[in-house]
Amino acid sequence: MIEILTIKCAKCKTKIMKYKKIGKGRILRCWESKIKNLYGEIKEEKLVCNNCDNIIGEIESKGKRNYVKMNREEFTYSGRKIRK
Ligand SMILES: [Zn+2]
Repeated sequence: MIEILTIKCAKCKTKIMKYKKIGKGRILRCWESKIKNLYGEIKEEKLVCNNCDNIIGEIESKGKRNYVKMNREEFTYSGRKIRK
């Protein structure tokens, strides 16, 4: 199952990103390669809301792949399932 998630800032509801999520489960990491649109800003290795500066996650990497380690309380999301 593939879902397109719209991730928003939990504080001000500004859009942070659109993310292509494969499979079920919680959103702990957002891999750079699956981010479709990024509306938030990267500041000092952190992904922040460009409206209220809320820290949504931290940029980390595994091998050569970058991801955002998401701060669970700082975002909300809604999803749209798509078939492939
Ligand atoms: Zn915000």
